Amino acid sequence: MADGISSFWGPVTSTIECCEKNYAYSSYIAEFYNTLSNIPTILLALIGLINALRQRFEKRFSVLHISNMILAMGSMLYHATLQRVICTVLSFNGTEPCIRHASLCRVVILQQQSDETPMVWEMLLYMYILYSPDWHYRSTMPTFLFLYGAVFAVVHSVVHFGIGFKLHYVILCLLCIPRMYKYYIHTQDAAAKLLAKMYVASIFLGSLCWLGDRLFCEEVSGWPVNPQGHALWHVFMGFNSYFANTFLMFCRAQQRGWAPRVVYLMGILPYVKIEKPKSQ
Ligand SMILES: [Zn+2]
Repeated sequence: MADGISSFWGPVTSTIECCEKNYAYSSYIAEFYNTLSNIPTILLALIGLINALRQRFEKRFSVLHISNMILAMGSMLYHATLQRVICTVLSFNGTEPCIRHASLCRVVILQQQSDETPMVWEMLLYMYILYSPDWHYRSTMPTFLFLYGAVFAVVHSVVHFGIGFKLHYVILCLLCIPRMYKYYIHTQDAAAKLLAKMYVASIFLGSLCWLGDRLFCEEVSGWPVNPQGHALWHVFMGFNSYFANTFLMFCRAQQRGWAPRVVYLMGILPYVKIEKPKSQ
């Protein structure tokens, strides 16, 4: 902790700490850059949400963008407080914000490790979007995924999986890759293909930043300016989710015969424009 600034949220209880100095700028924000760097993700998801709603894309895409926003907000809360337990309700005994009473909350309110359950739910939604169009028995897939998500949430609220959670999450991510690749090779549109390439590039650059932050923290801390690898990872991953969702919206619109085109907001930010036939 930086000298002279005391922490509003109590001692750091999180086990994963990033390279950024805690409480360097404000006693309310534990990790300044790691907190603010979630804002681009929220804004990009908001743009995606407005685009999905305005053109009446299927609800699954609105839910996807909203879930990205929620995860980014969870990440903000986590990096701002570095508390392992984030209370699910905002007021404890009606007067004080519960987060200040983390130790009491832990007893009273269901323990929940910030956003691991929503992360799994979001991945299940990706699997639904990717695989449901070619699933033979249409109604069985959402039912199965819903039950899977519900059972996971219940088990996860009781048992903390630790490394098992990460492994489970990686397997879910890997399961998405084959279908994503198949969409890529079947897409003719060059601008849509570029979205997929940007998706791969952003996850690659983001991972390099994340890894650099973890492996070379000591060296980096000696530099005149800390490049804030973890904060950069947030920014790259915000773009990564945006590119993934935009690419999936393009593929889905193509399946539905909505004549999708990739156009650019203010000449830079790609999004999907569709033209639905009159009957829809
Ligand atoms: Zn983070």
